Amino acid sequence: MDTKLRGIGQKILPLAVLAGLVLTAFFTIGKKQDTAGSSHERSTIVIDPGHGGIDGGAIGADGTRESDINLAVALKLRAMAELYGLDNLLLRQDDRTLCDAEEYSEHRDLECRTELASAELNPVYISIHQNDFPTGQASGAQVIYAAGEGSEELGTIMHRNLIGALYPKSRRVAEPATRKLYILSHLTCPAILVECGFVSNSIDLENLKRPTYQTSLAAIMMGSYLQFEQNTVRI
Ligand SMILES: [Zn+2]
Repeated sequence: MDTKLRGIGQKILPLAVLAGLVLTAFFTIGKKQDTAGSSHERSTIVIDPGHGGIDGGAIGADGTRESDINLAVALKLRAMAELYGLDNLLLRQDDRTLCDAEEYSEHRDLECRTELASAELNPVYISIHQNDFPTGQASGAQVIYAAGEGSEELGTIMHRNLIGALYPKSRRVAEPATRKLYILSHLTCPAILVECGFVSNSIDLENLKRPTYQTSLAAIMMGSYLQFEQNTVRI
């Protein structure tokens, strides 16, 4: 995208996204009130900023740690969930190893995140990550969904909204998780992993570091979650 257009887009986009979010939330809250007293049970949005502490995840060319971008977006998403009075759980609120820092292993870390998410009542799990590719050319968002009920729907909504707002030229589609992804293959609730962009791509990396862009990402995630909840009545 032309640099000037990109600059203008970055100023306008968060406002447009937030305006859409407010409208979505308005209708969603209205719908929840309509169903009060019915058997509709509240969900808990579980927000998982990937990596953290001794595990920085992918590292950008300038030394930016994926774990820090994940956390920044997750904190904004949690703030929006609080704003709308949604039950929520943020798995880490700062730069830390989630479980067993003394005896860290990647497997134990993933197991721990799975246990924390599973312990919630009606969890809807959203894992936030950034992608990495050796050539540096790949860019854009990618959403991966679990096999559990509702995951594909949530993943499809999330992917469509992210691509539509931020990467309109992308031809990617939401994809099912392989068994290699421990958390997504062990959770039975609606569960997705969102790769917001590539830290290995210089343009993506500059965007991903920007607070306004992070706000856009969080707002799109929030709007997508609300859209999913509006479509779903779990009994
Ligand atoms: Zn990651």
